[in-house]
Amino acid sequence: MQTLLLISAESARANPGLAIGFGLLAAVAAQTGLAVVSSVRRLAQQRRQFALESERLAYEVRLAKSRWDQTEQEKSSWNGWRKFRVAEKLHECEDVFSFVLKPHDGKAIPAFKPGQYLTFGLDIPGRDKQVVRCYSLSSAPSDRDFYRVTIKKEKAPSDKPGVPPGVGSSFFADGVKDGDILNVKAPGGHFFLETEKQTPVVLISAGVGVTPVLSMAREIAAIGSERETWFFFVCRSRADHMLKAEVEQLAARCDNIRLHVCYSKPGPADVQGKDFHTAGRLTADVLKAVLPSSNYDYYMCGNGSFMKSMYEGLIGWGVPDAKIHYEAFGPATIKKTSDTPALSKAEAGGKVVNVTFGKSGKVVRWDPSLLNLLDFARANEVRIDSGCCAGSCGSCSVAVKEGEVEYLSKADPGEAGSCLTCVCRPKGDLVLDA
Ligand SMILES: Cc1cc2nc3c(=O)[nH]c(=O)nc-3n(C[C@H](O)[C@H](O)[C@H](O)COP(=O)(O)OP(=O)(O)OC[C@H]3O[C@@H](n4cnc5c(N)ncnc54)[C@H](O)[C@@H]3O)c2cc1C
Repeated sequence: MQTLLLISAESARANPGLAIGFGLLAAVAAQTGLAVVSSVRRLAQQRRQFALESERLAYEVRLAKSRWDQTEQEKSSWNGWRKFRVAEKLHECEDVFSFVLKPHDGKAIPAFKPGQYLTFGLDIPGRDKQVVRCYSLSSAPSDRDFYRVTIKKEKAPSDKPGVPPGVGSSFFADGVKDGDILNVKAPGGHFFLETEKQTPVVLISAGVGVTPVLSMAREIAAIGSERETWFFFVCRSRADHMLKAEVEQLAARCDNIRLHVCYSKPGPADVQGKDFHTAGRLTADVLKAVLPSSNYDYYMCGNGSFMKSMYEGLIGWGVPDAKIHYEAFGPATIKKTSDTPALSKAEAGGKVVNVTFGKSGKVVRWDPSLLNLLDFARANEVRIDSGCCAGSCGSCSVAVKEGEVEYLSKADPGEAGSCLTCVCRPKGDLVLDA
């Protein structure tokens, strides 16, 4: 080649016409080369754009199909109790069981929103009254033909070892078995993820509080959503790391789901980097260290003190109140400014309001900083049964012997002569049959 060029250069020197010819040839070759490169680039870009566009279209189709299926399934919703068969009872970890439920009538079941719960009417041997309890769905709406709940058996509180363990959760753990039939109300609740959105989310849970946020993560994966998702979870150690394999598989399968696990008291055989990421409690400081910014929607569920400290940490980090969503399985511990109702007329007039718990023989001055009568009763060690804590299951209903109550926003008053203590507070002096 070199020899050829030398010969050509020499012939060009001898013949200027040939030199011009060579020059023109080189220019045409260079231009053709450039044109080829830019067409290849354009083609590659068009191919990339086409791939992105088809991915987007495929996602839209999946979303539309999922919405259509949901609308179809909503037609199969029901009022009151419906019988469900326990298709499978699974031991998840110490004191925690999952229950896969299928409709006894074999008909379709309605889709739900990830984060919602089921209400159970439990006929427990030896109890004259049905026990009503709520459990979040740990399956996803896309799991079309079954529901799944995951339940932790509540032990007696450590400061009261003599009292019996939780009635409903013990029944599930010790009494309910494969094939049993349970009374179930249709899915409900206001704590859920809007799946049509694409905004980045942080899902935070402690212990069995994982159930509603697992449903959210499962649905994000099932519909192929690419929204950035962080899944933070804390438990004591590997021994009570429930649904570990399932969550790890979700994170391994979906690039957009990132997992961070904290063990507050890792066991001697627990391996950091394999079983968990951080040793210690899950706090807002852990989120600050892991997340690239605070600009997310936060969905969290766990015990009272965990949620309170996480909420305060997030607010302290500058996260707007409206971006923090949560569900409490027990008494409310977070008080959002928007939750605090205006003082009742009696309170505003400076009048002391007394609540008498007739059966317990207690007369207590109402504390306006508490949101509802159920929390007030608990704070004063008066036991009132409870279920959904949202005014829908009716289990916290108590007869009003004297006085009146007022309901918090959007709550439906219960039967006449009684009140749903989880969503109301006294208007003035009150006597309750509790
Ligand atoms: C919307 C919602 C979703 C939920 N989702 C889930 C879920 O997915 N998984 C889950 O496991 N739970 C969930 N829960 C909690 C669940 O509904 C129950 O509250 C929980 O299982 C405890 O009910 P229990 O009948 O077992 O306990 P209860 O009988 O109500 O007892 C509660 C506690 O009180 C103690 N106790 C008993 N007697 C006394 C006494 N005399 N004095 C003081 N203490 C006493 C018991 O030992 C127990 O620790 C959810 C709750 C709500 C509101």
